[in-house]
Amino acid sequence: MSNITPDTASLSMTPPLTGLDRLPDAFARDVIAHLCGETCRGLGETVEWCEGRNDCYLVVTCGGCRTTFTLDEDQYEALIEWSESHGNALACGITRLPG
Ligand SMILES: [Zn+2]
Repeated sequence: MSNITPDTASLSMTPPLTGLDRLPDAFARDVIAHLCGETCRGLGETVEWCEGRNDCYLVVTCGGCRTTFTLDEDQYEALIEWSESHGNALACGITRLPG
């Protein structure tokens, strides 16, 4: 993969990411940029980790490279909303928690 020349044909096949302004912070935008980027486009699987009764957090694992992103509730809700309103067309975003 030594082709570093911008390829307008392939760029035009990648829909632009829209609705990023609805995400609460730069980290949430980074998650979408990763999951909807050129390298790992796909769905990140969300799981809930609990280390104690009131000590739970949400972890999204990239299906492409297994990178993990730890989210808070606000980021999770915003990313789910983004995934369902924008991500479907792009086949990328995060999954809802099972159950
Ligand atoms: Zn990845």
